[in-house]
Amino acid sequence: MSTQKSYRLPTTVTPERYELRLSPDLTHWTFAGEEKIAIQVHEPVREIMLNAAELEIHAAGIKRADGKALAARVSLDDENERATLSFPETLPHGAYEVQISFSGVLNDKLHGFYRSTYKDEKGQEQRLASTQFESTDARRAFPCWDEPAFKAVYQVTLVVDEKLTAISNARVVGQTVLPESGKKEVVFADTIKMSSYLVAFIVGEFEATDPLMVGQAPLRVCAVPGKKRLAGFAVDIGKFSLEHFSRYYGIPYPGDKLDLIAIPDFASGAMENLGAITFRETALLVDPEKATRTELERVADVVSHENAHMWFGDLVTMKWWNGLWLNEAFATFMEMLAVDAWKPEWRRWDSFTISRAAAMQVDGLKSTRPIEFPVERPEEAAGMFDVLTYEKGASVLRLLEQYLGGAAFRDGIRLYLQRHAYGNAETTDLWDAIEASAKQPARALMDTWIFQAGYPLIGVEKDAQGIRLTQQIFRYLQDGSDQQRQWHVPIFLRAGTKSGVVEKNILLTEPEQRVELGAEVDWAVVNAGGHGFYRVRYSGGLLEALKRELQNRLSAVERFGLVNDTWASTQAGLTSLTDYLGLIELLPAENDVNVWSTVIGSGHHLLRILDEAQCVELARRLGALLTPPVDRLGWAPRKGESELESQLRGDLIAALGTVAEDRKCQERARDLFFQYETAPDSVDRNLVPALVVIIAHTGNTADYEKFYSRFKTAQTPQEETRYLFALANFRVPDLIDRTLDLTVNGDVRTQNAPYLMRGILLNKQAREKAWAFLKSHWDEMLHQYPDNAIPRMCEGIIGLVKPDLEADAGEFFAKHPVKQGAKQMEQHLERLRVAVACQFRWQDQLRSR
Ligand SMILES: [Zn+2]
Repeated sequence: MSTQKSYRLPTTVTPERYELRLSPDLTHWTFAGEEKIAIQVHEPVREIMLNAAELEIHAAGIKRADGKALAARVSLDDENERATLSFPETLPHGAYEVQISFSGVLNDKLHGFYRSTYKDEKGQEQRLASTQFESTDARRAFPCWDEPAFKAVYQVTLVVDEKLTAISNARVVGQTVLPESGKKEVVFADTIKMSSYLVAFIVGEFEATDPLMVGQAPLRVCAVPGKKRLAGFAVDIGKFSLEHFSRYYGIPYPGDKLDLIAIPDFASGAMENLGAITFRETALLVDPEKATRTELERVADVVSHENAHMWFGDLVTMKWWNGLWLNEAFATFMEMLAVDAWKPEWRRWDSFTISRAAAMQVDGLKSTRPIEFPVERPEEAAGMFDVLTYEKGASVLRLLEQYLGGAAFRDGIRLYLQRHAYGNAETTDLWDAIEASAKQPARALMDTWIFQAGYPLIGVEKDAQGIRLTQQIFRYLQDGSDQQRQWHVPIFLRAGTKSGVVEKNILLTEPEQRVELGAEVDWAVVNAGGHGFYRVRYSGGLLEALKRELQNRLSAVERFGLVNDTWASTQAGLTSLTDYLGLIELLPAENDVNVWSTVIGSGHHLLRILDEAQCVELARRLGALLTPPVDRLGWAPRKGESELESQLRGDLIAALGTVAEDRKCQERARDLFFQYETAPDSVDRNLVPALVVIIAHTGNTADYEKFYSRFKTAQTPQEETRYLFALANFRVPDLIDRTLDLTVNGDVRTQNAPYLMRGILLNKQAREKAWAFLKSHWDEMLHQYPDNAIPRMCEGIIGLVKPDLEADAGEFFAKHPVKQGAKQMEQHLERLRVAVACQFRWQDQLRSR
């Protein structure tokens, strides 16, 4: 615990209300600040310790209740990001006011109080400043008690150039022009009691949509000038989800207004600052006439997710960062719920299976971690923003919700929010509330999912009058460890027996359990509905029965489960590659976009693993698999087709033209793109990304120039990233070099460059060049990119599927540890290990055929 101590602030002094006045200078990229903090001293102290980083403190002192002022000596501890104010005499317990004046730099690292730029409609560069404080970066903007449990009220004042807009968490209550400087002083109302990581200030030229009242709060979407036309979709889902959540939680929106603000440079997707949610532009601004369904869904998801946080996260906050999962898992769960209610035709819970599968991929590694995980240092908190916190967390909440029933679960959530409003809570508080409200045990069940890493593989075999279930940890690389690990597994079972179809819910708590079904079983679907966070392995007879009835007996989600589980067990060496290919070759009649997504994903992965001759053969087989559904759907939308069908057409054609290397498809894509250039509305918006990836895959210098210029002149954020990221798919060596240069030459925003790099690493023809480039530009990348992007960029190393590259990657990262993503780095390396192990195994299997 000694290390933890050095990072945590003492609780002898607590803040109650901050008065914060900041004057950002966008010309010199600096800011000056003053703050008055009303505090309570709980036991006599000579020193007050709070967080500060990269700030210069000019003066500090304290005012006692009787008005007497005491100056403080200030010492800064850069290592631990703290400032200590020392006083000449002891301060007895009671109320005081701390006063500090300070200044800092508007940095270019996309955290703390930071700079952002954009070109206006005349092509002139314009500047703005924004904040991003989660997890521990409020301390870069003002000295504060920068831990989530030190909740306080914030009253912010911003002094800005007269033509600029200033936004903070609460409503504007006063605005005056200061006679001496000509600057505008914008005074904001007091916020609710909240954590420092949720404070926000944004300064720049912004346009806002007309305020729309949601309950008592006006809702607006804000963007830099010229982009307001892309805000309508976000207004719609913003209003819908906010109202949906007020009803679900049974508590009105806790802020006094809500602005959703698009920031041109943004490190993550969005940030749930109370009343002033910030977004990267692709996650908020969209043209519904031009964007694909998945691009629209992303905006709907992110807006709903952030709005869900206004209660879960902002009103009630985790005590410490080990509890981050509760915030993020819950917001992710609520995001699905809201989007599913808004557009049921999108079948949002079905596509959530893709996210669940991504979490299961990481969680099947030895280097995974439990959802709730000890956190001490700031970079460990930063490392928690991963697929286990968000997607596994949301999956197990969904599992619990399905097990308890929607209403019982919701009532538990309401009770939890009522009990802890304006305060902090821990995981155990949620189970207390759910158990009190649902009158069912939740803790014992959930503890096995929250505090244990990994998940079980459920074995199923026929028994005389029923089935026998077993559970055992699933691992891609089996080393026999952790075999004793057991879960409380809610099993949703549907079975066909000699006396009809039976449905049954069981809680599997033992390593082995018999389920009596009263008659001999013909077939069984374990994990019916697909809510389980586990994989299923059917014994021979049961698997064959399901394969015969794929389209009749199994729902789309269940087919997804069968294909995805079989693919995982193939990677783990439990199923042969031949058997996996045999299974997917039963799918020509398949019409579900998510089932196809897992099949196509496995195709991409196989091509990175297999050798040249094997790839040619695989492409041929995939071509034979993909052609019937493409022929069935055609190349143009049919009257009355669903948005999911339009999306499926795009996905299948993209795969046929890339993984399957179908020449005819490639030519047709080229022709159609030519048509799109002259008559954009003549091509379905859901097909355009497919044409773009096929052309990049087969493209030459002229195509590259065209895409680069489209990236530079794009009219929507989605188009901009579509053409930018397509540059990673070109396979001509010179063009690969050009794209590599783009990642560090300042031409691409640092919010995107790391993801471009990840894309190049995953391009088989580019991976060796990309890896060499990454190694030789490592320091530059660390310096330029936002910290959170480094481990995400490095996910690209899973494409380096060659024994020598794998060894080199292991060596390189041993010498260059990524401190803000140590766990994720271990996982990337293990995923690469799994792929290399598959390479050995499958090359043998395919050779021996
Ligand atoms: Zn979130």
